[in-house]
Amino acid sequence: MNLNQDKHGEAKWMQLPRDVVVGTGVINDITNVCNDLKLGSNALIVTGKKTRYIAGNTVHDELEANGRNVEMLITSSATMDEVKRVEDEAMKYGSNYLLGVGSGNSIDVAKLAATKLDIPFLSVPTAASHDGIVSSRASIIHDSKTTSIQSNAPMAVVADTEIIANAPYRLLAAGCGDIISNYTAVLDWELAHRLRNESFSEYAASLSRMTAKILLDSADSIKPDLESSARLVVKALVSSGVAMSIAGSSRPASGSEHMFSHALDSIASKPALHGEECGIGSIMMMYLHGGDWEMIRDGLKKIRVPTTAKELGIEDKYIIEALLISHTIRPERYTILGTSGLTSDAAEAVAKTTGVIS
Ligand SMILES: [Zn+2]
Repeated sequence: MNLNQDKHGEAKWMQLPRDVVVGTGVINDITNVCNDLKLGSNALIVTGKKTRYIAGNTVHDELEANGRNVEMLITSSATMDEVKRVEDEAMKYGSNYLLGVGSGNSIDVAKLAATKLDIPFLSVPTAASHDGIVSSRASIIHDSKTTSIQSNAPMAVVADTEIIANAPYRLLAAGCGDIISNYTAVLDWELAHRLRNESFSEYAASLSRMTAKILLDSADSIKPDLESSARLVVKALVSSGVAMSIAGSSRPASGSEHMFSHALDSIASKPALHGEECGIGSIMMMYLHGGDWEMIRDGLKKIRVPTTAKELGIEDKYIIEALLISHTIRPERYTILGTSGLTSDAAEAVAKTTGVIS
């Protein structure tokens, strides 16, 4: 099915989560959510080695105490092999739905496996580090490259802000980087619309931009160990996810800054967090757009998201190298980087002028 039709007169398919439950202790409402969605009796939980103890076991016990058959599978990497393993196990157990309980890998793996099996998927994030907790994209490592694969949106998102506030602050800050990068993603989308006549949704673009703006306006109140901060970021991630659902693609929240992040992941020996890389990418891409890159940088700084290669823990040379190959990451996605990318002089200039490298 083509979910990307947006031209006048053509069908438009928006897939949104049906239940989004955000708040203190909502993990204990998991059975109510499953009942509300009229899900079957066999559940398969995909969780991580650590997140199992943070939330996986709670979800397991909660569902089991309410008469469901629950199996649990521990995953440690978001690879195609793991997706296949989850599919096989789900078939074996006759699972009616999958729950991804964790911060990244578990959600991506469960999301894609559920899509392939054509069964419901519920997202139970233990951290708010990227918009994948709500979106219809799964980040999967394929041939040692991270690729973003179209999947079904979660049928429900159960985000317990008490759990999310207890996760390392670095994860929440990275989530903010992912949201702030909406600014450049939307600029890239507008550019592609003007230059390539790519279909464009004003509603999706406005929602995405507004989400980033609300977050930046509240930057002062995003602090470690505060449940109110976790709530703010989760709501913004949900809002970004809805923008992508309206667009039927990740366009409103993923442009050249995301290509830079994927490029960095493919070359740096020790990549940083997705949202951190996107934040830095967004500073530089905003500079290339001729926009207010200082606003992006200052907002990130306030929230304590890295704004330099040093803070990212990545050598300067990888920043330049990533800038030079970013345009090749997703060639069908037209951005400010164009079809031939930057020259090395230009790459060095943007990284130095914005203070990303010294
Ligand atoms: Zn992202």
